[in-house]
Amino acid sequence: MSIAVARYQNFVGGEWVDAVEGETADIINPATGETIGQVPQGSQADVDRAVEAAKQAWAEWRETTPGERAEVLLKLADVIDEHTEELAQIESQNVGKPLSYARDEMPVSSDNIRFFAGAARILEGRATGEYMKGYTSMIRREPLGVVGQVAPWNYPLMMAVWKFAPALAAGNVSVLKPSEQTPLSTLRFAQLAADVIPAGVLNVITGDGEPVGAGIVRHPDVRLVSLTGDVATGKEVARAASETLKRVHLELGGKAPVVVFDDADPAQVAEAIKIGGYWNSGQDCTAASRVVAGPKIYERLLEELVPAVESLHVGDPAEGDEIEMGPVISKSQQERVLGFLDRAQGAKVLTGGGTNGDRGFFVKPTLVTEVGQTDEIVQREVFGPVVTVQRFADDDQAIAWANDVPYGLAASVFTRDISRALNAARKLEFGTVWINDHIPLVSEMPHGGYKQSGYGKDLSMYSLEDYTQIKHVMAKLD
Ligand code: NAD
Repeated sequence: MSIAVARYQNFVGGEWVDAVEGETADIINPATGETIGQVPQGSQADVDRAVEAAKQAWAEWRETTPGERAEVLLKLADVIDEHTEELAQIESQNVGKPLSYARDEMPVSSDNIRFFAGAARILEGRATGEYMKGYTSMIRREPLGVVGQVAPWNYPLMMAVWKFAPALAAGNVSVLKPSEQTPLSTLRFAQLAADVIPAGVLNVITGDGEPVGAGIVRHPDVRLVSLTGDVATGKEVARAASETLKRVHLELGGKAPVVVFDDADPAQVAEAIKIGGYWNSGQDCTAASRVVAGPKIYERLLEELVPAVESLHVGDPAEGDEIEMGPVISKSQQERVLGFLDRAQGAKVLTGGGTNGDRGFFVKPTLVTEVGQTDEIVQREVFGPVVTVQRFADDDQAIAWANDVPYGLAASVFTRDISRALNAARKLEFGTVWINDHIPLVSEMPHGGYKQSGYGKDLSMYSLEDYTQIKHVMAKLD
């Protein structure tokens, strides 16, 4: 099935609307460079209209019981399950990801929503009690009101779900902006779910970071803004949010180390890196982008890893299910990734480097060795199919190198020695540490960064709590 150029509108107050100023933007399939959709190109006026619609909706939504909100969320999860194939097709075409991978994201997304439907009903607080004689004190966990949510392009619908599901579950209303590059699945989901979403509770508006994303951050009636995006964008959002002192929830970039101790199984590690490093063309904030391997396993690991990486089937996902890796998102992202390789003086490209022909925005799966800890390619997020491999001298150096980056989103450690694994997990300064694997996530456990990977958690009860504020009610007893 191919998707013709489709014209989308924004979803505001339960209505389908064009941009206030009537502008539109083309949406591209990165595997072909062809236009596949047209969406509204918003301005500050679109933000203002959506925030107004959300404020009106909040009057009723804040009065709903957790059980009623759970009912709505469960129906939204059903919408994804009932339209998995269509939504996966859109996601595959808009992001350039293999169709089977896009299909796999759909039940994960509906499971995420169902988790928050249940979680809405079991929020916890401290015990109500008489902490001063003659008074009863109690805790209320309340929603904030209108929250602004800004999503990236790598997992468009799933990232939208990670934002709106906890926000709505906690009783907030949302103004959500998908990435300007990949808004189609979120808009289509809103179309499919329009009958389920009470008008104005979830509003989807499209447009660039400035003015639409930044407009959401500027708006005085938005109480919290959550962003998934680049570290530089996170800093800009935090700065701008300080003007109105709104709360900020930031899921930013990563540079995940894979610490491989000498006793690990090289074939198992190679398979994990093949998946973790190149999934979604390496455009994953937790991508296994930086391998630090022990002195004795280093050569054997490369012997396994090079053929594993070379075995990846790269191409336009429309060619069929055998494609395991598509393009990167855009021409500028392709140039950015190749720029890292050009500048990596002294490094050795063991396999990959360069593009895969002129059609679409491809970068070959690339493995780089002979890099130093302070090199740009080791220190900065490439966000493409590029993995570096370093050889450490001892365990202390392994942990020191793993931690020695500005980011702190995710890390993994491979060893058969449980003490070594747990010691590493304790010392690694990252929000997630995997042992003997890299990349899986579950709805019940938090995902979020240390250091410059941001603050606030997605998924889990911690995310739900992030979308609440705490009130102390103290009653004098006669
Ligand atoms: P990006 O920062 O360029 O854009 C993210 C979103 O922010 C987009 O919707 C964009 O329009 C918007 N935006 C841009 N400037 C803005 C501003 N001044 N104010 C408000 N909004 C603004 O990021 P991207 O290129 O879309 O996504 C890739 C980045 O996202 C990578 O760094 C990746 O690591 C990160 N990411 C993090 C996670 C996580 O969970 N930590 C998950 C996925 C992606």
